[in-house]
Amino acid sequence: KEEVRRRHIRLHMEGALTARDKVGVQDFVLLDAYTSESAFVDNLRKRFSENLIYTYIGTLLVSVNPYQELGIYTMNQMELYQGVNFFELPPHVYAIADNAYRMMCSELNNHFILISGESGAGKTEASKKILQYFAVTCPMTESLQIARDRLLLSNPVLEAFGNAKTLRNDNSSRFGKYMDIQFDFQGIPVGGHIISYLIEKSRVVYQNQGERNFHIFYQLLAGGEAERLAYLGLERDPQLYKYLSQGHCAKELSTNDKNDWKTVCNAFSVIDFTEGDLENLFGIIASVLHLGNVCFQEDDQGCAAIPDTHEIKWIAKLLGVYPSVLLEALTHRKIEAKTEQVICPLTLELSVYARDAMAKAVYGRTFTWLVNKINSSLVNKDCTQKTVIGLLDIYGFEVFDKNGFEQFCINYCNEKLQQLLIERTLKAEQAEYETEGIEWEPIQYFNNKIICDLVEERHKGIISILDEECIRPGPATDLSFLEKLEEKVGFLEKNNDLLYRHLKEVLCRCQNSILRECFLVAELENRRRPPTVGTQFKNSLSSLLEILISKEPSYIRCIKPNERKEPSKFDDFLVRHQIKYLGLMEHLRVRRAGFAYRRKYEHFLQRYKSLCPDTWPHWHGPPGEGVERLIKYIGYKPEEYKLGKTKIFIRFPRTLFATEDAFEFS
Ligand code: ADP
Ligand code: MG
Repeated sequence: KEEVRRRHIRLHMEGALTARDKVGVQDFVLLDAYTSESAFVDNLRKRFSENLIYTYIGTLLVSVNPYQELGIYTMNQMELYQGVNFFELPPHVYAIADNAYRMMCSELNNHFILISGESGAGKTEASKKILQYFAVTCPMTESLQIARDRLLLSNPVLEAFGNAKTLRNDNSSRFGKYMDIQFDFQGIPVGGHIISYLIEKSRVVYQNQGERNFHIFYQLLAGGEAERLAYLGLERDPQLYKYLSQGHCAKELSTNDKNDWKTVCNAFSVIDFTEGDLENLFGIIASVLHLGNVCFQEDDQGCAAIPDTHEIKWIAKLLGVYPSVLLEALTHRKIEAKTEQVICPLTLELSVYARDAMAKAVYGRTFTWLVNKINSSLVNKDCTQKTVIGLLDIYGFEVFDKNGFEQFCINYCNEKLQQLLIERTLKAEQAEYETEGIEWEPIQYFNNKIICDLVEERHKGIISILDEECIRPGPATDLSFLEKLEEKVGFLEKNNDLLYRHLKEVLCRCQNSILRECFLVAELENRRRPPTVGTQFKNSLSSLLEILISKEPSYIRCIKPNERKEPSKFDDFLVRHQIKYLGLMEHLRVRRAGFAYRRKYEHFLQRYKSLCPDTWPHWHGPPGEGVERLIKYIGYKPEEYKLGKTKIFIRFPRTLFATEDAFEFS
């Protein structure tokens, strides 16, 4: 193993430094033209064409989705990266994982790894690779294997319910995910905790052309046992269900629903789901499908009616409600006056709205229930001393031709995370200079607080204005909101996310035990409005930031090389766009503002000692002194470097490259 590692280190050094024209530099801080976006793209493209998908910016990892299996996630690779100095091997997601793990073990502090990038860029794959890396490489005892398996298997379950095929990604996560992996004092993974963000509920009732609903629906139909389907009143053919067929790709070949069903069922059994849980859960999934097929007709008075009650009966059976009650709730609205309740019929349009709202609410809350259920199986009560590594897999900035409420929330989230990143990077730079005893050089950067304020400030921010419009008496419309924002977007209804009280009552009183946990009667008694989607998101984001602020960060930025999910295609324009909004140039600038390169004296000396007669073949004094002699001998100018307490700091890449060339020819 040691020999393999050495060979790798040598190869890497040669690859990264001397053959830099062919495969580019493995760390962007070594780019000479570090302010040039074109140079950045060139470097990424060069490496990508050699199947080198990873590149560092200092300690941040940039990853380009290869859209093909590269054989870089083998057991051998995992072993290779264990306990290795960050820069001794080619950049890899394992290096990031291992580095966080080692630091956590030695310093007993908490870490997080933030993975961002646009849909299809490889975030979820990266987070799975990290989880696998820990599962394979961390120490393990027999009794804790179950904890590890549950951590691993929570993924297929969450993906089944939270992922869907979209135009951008066949397995697109439609929710943000933060997962804590908890380790005991020996570094054994003992448990975990998951928080989900903003599940895209609208997908339950509507999909764009070429897209699908959440995987679980298709998996159940394709893989579910015949008796189960019969019990649920379902047919195998997904095209029979309105909620599954609007995207016209219900029978998508690229996903293997039948096999995935088996994986999910197996995961369910490991994660402690009882047969009763599953019956209730699939009862809910099936009733959503039945709900989608409920058809309304207009009667003589222009009110909605349901002529065929076939679906209603199935839903009633599966959820444990009276068919007549459900039927009334779908076609009527309860209006509460001071002393009496008035039941008034809904129009056809409003009934459809009520039906879809019910499907979305049921699915959304069931998803939350699922996350809680998984969490309770990941809890480890026996272990008291725990440190964690958090994995945040969250949608990056989104800019489409048409942008709505979702893009607003997602981009707001990214502004907050970007703010954190820049602050932390600056702070880390400053801290390093201080510990090394080097004079601090101020760094200019764009502070995006002003953008965050615009969104979140109390009373004045967009979310506050939006909420005000939502609670204003009288008909609030996007128009009245627009008058205040003077920009055309579609926000109000999504922010409100209204489920008629009547339907809520039905759900609170149903027999399905999962839904009873999801819709508490207390909610009916509480006359105050529940917080809007925007406010909920703002709150969950600020608690996320609290979680992150107390931990040591690592960053992975994922880039999508082309829009067609094709291997070996590198679309310059697309990549450039992502580099811009991922803030990579800004990050590089901050990282490079002081010094391009820094290494511990020992490591620097180890590599270049042959260049100076004083240090070759052995240097017995302090490594710092050895380095000083060495660089004097090879002629570094004072403005090119600084010597800290334990590290040498080199200002320009060319200085290092010259040394590297000298080394090659020595
Ligand atoms: P995101 O979560 O960013 O939307 P995913 O992680 O789901 O994107 O990746 C989309 C698809 O790209 C995956 O299903 C897989 O086919 C491919 N992919 C992503 N990362 C890799 C990788 N490191 N190696 C090979 N294929 C990858
Ligand atoms: Mg994803």
